[in-house]
Amino acid sequence: MLVVGAGILGLSISYHIKEHAPSKDVFLVDRFAAVAQGNTARSNAMFRNTFTSRDNVALADSSIDYYLEVQNELGIDLGLKKCGYLWLMSERQASKGEANIRKLKNCGIELREYTREDLQRLLPALRSEFSASDEARLMDLESIAAGIFGEKCGRLDPTKLANYYKERFLALGGKIAVNTNVTSLIVEPRQPLGIEGEPFTWQESNVAGAKVEGAFHGELRAKKTIVAAGAWNNELLEPIGLDGHVKAKKRQLFTLTAKKSEELERLLRTRTFSSEGFPFAILPKNACFVKGVEENREFWVGCDDDFNRPFINVPDANLEDCKPEPEYFERSLYPILRQYFPAFEGSRAGQMWAGYYAYNTLDSIPFAFEENDLIVAGGQSGSGIMKADALGRIVEALYRLGEDGDATLHGGRGYRIRNLGFKNRSVEREEWVI
Ligand SMILES: Cc1cc2nc3c(=O)[nH]c(=O)nc-3n(C[C@H](O)[C@H](O)[C@H](O)COP(=O)(O)OP(=O)(O)OC[C@H]3O[C@@H](n4cnc5c(N)ncnc54)[C@H](O)[C@@H]3O)c2cc1C
Repeated sequence: MLVVGAGILGLSISYHIKEHAPSKDVFLVDRFAAVAQGNTARSNAMFRNTFTSRDNVALADSSIDYYLEVQNELGIDLGLKKCGYLWLMSERQASKGEANIRKLKNCGIELREYTREDLQRLLPALRSEFSASDEARLMDLESIAAGIFGEKCGRLDPTKLANYYKERFLALGGKIAVNTNVTSLIVEPRQPLGIEGEPFTWQESNVAGAKVEGAFHGELRAKKTIVAAGAWNNELLEPIGLDGHVKAKKRQLFTLTAKKSEELERLLRTRTFSSEGFPFAILPKNACFVKGVEENREFWVGCDDDFNRPFINVPDANLEDCKPEPEYFERSLYPILRQYFPAFEGSRAGQMWAGYYAYNTLDSIPFAFEENDLIVAGGQSGSGIMKADALGRIVEALYRLGEDGDATLHGGRGYRIRNLGFKNRSVEREEWVI
């Protein structure tokens, strides 16, 4: 068994396969110098069980339960803090989201609803009223009318989570090769005839492993190959005529120190929503968000603006070329931020970095399918850390049972594997992508 891509997904898949079948040889390869150095390392690593799609709810909710159990019951620190998600909504957004909120509540998702008055009391640093501001009008900023707080939501440390899966996988006898670039997948006839130019169209063929260069050279042959290469899925799949089903889009994060302002320090230590600190706050404009990282005395901010931000079919392999844009913070993000939180007035970006979301543009739900001894998984659309455990379990079940089987997610919930495939896909489209 060969797994390509040692990001959080490849690690979770490899671990779950090995856990289920310890005698199976599982070889995980990655072209970076260590595991989880791709978009996993560049993630905001927030988690939530608040999605509009029941599929995303199932994947995230069960993964979160698993991460909570690992940290709270096994005592393994994943840096997990249940600080909650606070969606700040204009009147228009609140009425548009009403049905989804009701649906989540009916599913048992722990949500608290706040009025503007509640928010003013619980979060006095938030400016919620803009009717008299010319600048806000110019920027089309809406006043805040309501807030929704997701309780089983928060942040974790993606490196710690990745190391958890890595250590478990290695302890079970799994093997990892880093600095190993897969240059192509090997396609060959199931019954070779030894004729030059095989496989021909009339021959049944399959994927029999991969060609690699770097720490390992040559061919890695495997009965089953799994591609979990994230934003780079297309690079390996398109040359063999398969649709990688992902489009990459650059996403950026900026840090803002709280050290120079008492007001920001106070904001960071907010305890009115959860004992774990400032909630992940999503503003009504472009899902612009603010995360508190109290241990570093800083905030992280970013934005989910989709239109006019280009898709990339195959991003460069070198993530160093995926650069953040300081002017994006200054001209696009900061003007919104300082309006809703005036305490950020004068803040300048400290550290900044960028990575890629791997979008499944069809419905923003992950996929997992098998074709000719090749299993492909991905399309987490910007929320792959929080769904990694469930997706790992589904891919393991796909490998073992095929598309017609059922996977068992953490906590015993069943999930029909074929729902995440493309031939018999049956998922609800996700509307709340951040
Ligand atoms: C700025 C930003 C913020 C985010 N915020 C969140 C968030 O708050 N919460 C959340 O859940 N998710 C978030 N995400 C998304 C999350 O990071 C991803 O969904 C997740 O990390 C994807 O994991 P992955 O294993 O599929 O991909 P990656 O971590 O990118 O791993 C893919 C791996 O495949 C390897 N690879 C690719 N091609 C080859 C090849 N040919 N040969 C060998 N190796 C190869 C790469 O080197 C890489 O290590 C964010 C992402 C970004 C960029």
